[in-house]
Order: sequence, then structure tokens, then C-alpha cells
Amino acid sequence: MNLCDEHDLMARSQRSVWHPCTQMRRHEVTPPIALSHAHGVWLYDSQERRYLDAISSWWVNLFGHTHARINAALVDQLSRLEHAMLAGFTHEPVVALSEQLSALTQHALGHCFYASDGASAVEIALKMSVHAWRNAGQSHKNEFICIAGGYHGETVGALAVTDTPLFRHAYEALLRPAHIAASPDVRQANPGEGAIDVTRRALADVERLLQQREGCIAAVIVEPLVQCAAGMAMHDPAYVRGLRALCDRYGAHLIADEIAVGCGRTGSFFACEQAGVWPDLLCLSKGISGGYLPLSLVMASDSIYAAFYDDDVRRGFLHSHSYTGNPLACRAALETLAIFADEQVLEHNRAFAPVLGASMQLLAEHAQVRHVRQRGMIWACDVAIDDAQAASRFAHRMAVEAAQREVLIRPIGTTLYVMPPYILSADQADWLGQQLHQALIATLEAP
Ligand SMILES: *Cc1c(COP(=O)(O)O)cnc(C)c1O
Repeated sequence: MNLCDEHDLMARSQRSVWHPCTQMRRHEVTPPIALSHAHGVWLYDSQERRYLDAISSWWVNLFGHTHARINAALVDQLSRLEHAMLAGFTHEPVVALSEQLSALTQHALGHCFYASDGASAVEIALKMSVHAWRNAGQSHKNEFICIAGGYHGETVGALAVTDTPLFRHAYEALLRPAHIAASPDVRQANPGEGAIDVTRRALADVERLLQQREGCIAAVIVEPLVQCAAGMAMHDPAYVRGLRALCDRYGAHLIADEIAVGCGRTGSFFACEQAGVWPDLLCLSKGISGGYLPLSLVMASDSIYAAFYDDDVRRGFLHSHSYTGNPLACRAALETLAIFADEQVLEHNRAFAPVLGASMQLLAEHAQVRHVRQRGMIWACDVAIDDAQAASRFAHRMAVEAAQREVLIRPIGTTLYVMPPYILSADQADWLGQQLHQALIATLEAP
């Protein structure tokens, strides 16, 4: 594609495509990058300029782009069964995927319900929780507790348990209020305190809400270990363990939204494993298809499943989406799980995490960098910027500076993070750290 064609594509995109999470007017100054192909950790535009995908294309990609094994699995699946409805029918990819995921929880969460995107999985978990209580004769349990700063998606139900003012404020009138519990973010530790003190305070706040609304809370929903959209806010695994205990004590479900933190991102396949507990409902999406196709699912415990198992149709979970259990997406997910097993991905990630951390050393030592933190394959820090205007411009400017240095990132406010595909090499990590350091210096020096 020549330069004229590329500019033409950007202009056409601007006229006809309404981009997500974007004030479209900004594209007048910074047009979208027109990609033509991708391979491994690299995205390429039509001028063969390249960008290292340091945020796994919004946290979905695990093993790089155009992966030979996933490509081959999809080609094979295409000639067998591309899609059929899952009501009244079943097929090998959806069965095998459900079995394998169930086995990964030692069958604690043995029943998989499918959808296509993360927000829908959250909606399903919320509905399942309330409906399960209703079927058990406890229809007054229909309120939710969510965590300050938490993010669960942008459909109306998911947004109601999301605490991100920027995403919520225009839609408040549509949202059924949830109870918001204090954040367990370890950055809140006072001098002399440790993570355990913050954890204890945050759990006490959840307990306060459970007591206040005793008998009315259907579920507590949490992103275990890392609240990603909040700006990679990390908490101690003891917090998740504490939530499990509180939910058991007060008779509420625990919903783990592992849409971003699942699939090996934090060091274990499921983040909950590090807390040593299972939730009643667990949401997966993003990485589960290797970053190839829209796929999400909710894994439910036997007791939730049993609450719907009946002769009465209305006691069943009648929720559906057109593409529920899409065979292509399930096949991509199966190949993703096969790669985890064949290539010992979790072991590799555990060994690679310190290498990733060390590559960010220059950034970590920058005078304006605070709260360097890491959980598995998520590395983050905060950039201290006193001037409020400059702080509000930081994310955009830093992304532009990084793009000029062949790196794709998308800072959240003044939080700078990387969440790379697991195939990132040590050399690429070092290079990435250097580029980001240069980009940070350029961003902070800009008027
Ligand atoms: C991305 C995300 C969602 C929403 O998933 P979509 O596919 O964007 O709808 C929900 N919860 C968490 C924790 C997420 O990171």
C-alpha cells in the first residue's frame, strides 16, 4: 500500500468507523494507525512500520499474532463446522473445552456457559447468581457488592458493578446502584503498614456491607489480584481468600471476573489459585481464544448448576446469545490450552516475569516513577506529575511517543504498564524497556 492509499484508509475509517473508547475528534490530530498484517509480538502498518504489541492488543493476545498452531487449528475447524446454534446441538470443540477448563479447576467449577464478550459473561454471572437464589426461595437476595475502582465491562448490567466514573457518568440513570466496598489496593498502605493492613481494612468494609444488607446480597464480584482497568491496582491474595470466607459466612456468591487476569496472566492459570480458593462463578474471556476470536464463558459450581436443574422451564437459565459456543472460537481456545500444556507456558511465565521486571529497570529508576509493581506478566508503575493539566495529557502523549519508537502501549491516566504476549523474548523485553524509558523522558520534557 502506498502512502496515499494509507492516508485514504485513515480518512475512510474516520468517516465510517466509530472507534471504541475514543473521542473521535482526537483522530483529527492523531489518526488511527492503519494495520496491514501482524506476526509474533509485532503489528505492521502498510508502510512496514512496526509496533511491538506491549499490551497484547487490549490484554487478549497470549502467544503473539498469526500463530502457526492456532492458525492451523482454525483452518482445520473451518472445513468441519464453522458455526451452529448451541441450543439443541453440541459439538466436539465446545465439549472438549468445557471438560478441560473444568479439569483445570479440579472440577470445582464444572459447568461452562458460553457467550462472546467479557461484559456478557459478567451479565450472565450476575443473572445466574440472582436466579439461583430465587430458585432456592431467596428472591430478596438480588443486590451486588463490587469493589472500588473495579471494572467489569460496559453493558448496562456490567456497568452497574463497575466503579469507573468516566465510563459511568453519562449512564447513571440507567444503572441499578451496587454497593461499593473499599479498595484493597496495596498502594494505600500508610507508612509502616504492609499489604496485610490494607487487606484487613478492605475486608472489614465488605463485611460492613454484608451486615448492613444482610439477606439482600446475591454476590460479591471481584477482579482477583489485579484490578486492571483501574490502573493495574494490585492486592494481596489474602483479600480474595477473605472474600471467600465472608461470602460463605453471610450466604452470598463470590464471582471472580478473571476476564483480564485469567489464562496465566498473573502466574497461575486462574488468579484465584494463588488465593487457594474457588469462587461460585468465574468469568473468562480475552485470552481464552489466544486473542483470536470473541469468546467468553462463565464457569459455575455444582450447587449453582443444581439450583436450575428442574422440570420447570422457568427455573432453567434461559439466557442465550446467537454465537454461544461458536466452534471456531472454541477450537482456538482448545489450541490455546494445548499450547499451555505442550510448551509449559505457566512455568515459562514464572521464569520470565523477573526478566520482564529487570528490563523495566531504567523506567523504575526514573525520578518521577512511583509504585513499581508486578504480578506475573503484568508490570506497572505510576508517573508522578504535579501539574494537573500535564497529568491529564500524559496517557495520550506517552502513547504517541511510544508509537514513534515502535511500541504500542495505552497508559491509564498516569499509570504506565506493559502486559505483553507471553512469547516476548528477553532481548525484546530489554529493547521495550529502553524505548519506554526514552518515550517517558520525551513525554515529560514536552511543553
Ligand atoms: C475487558 C474486561 C471486561 C469486559 O470484556 P469485554 O470483552 O470488553 O466486554 C470485563 N471485566 C474485566 C476485568 C475486563 O478486563
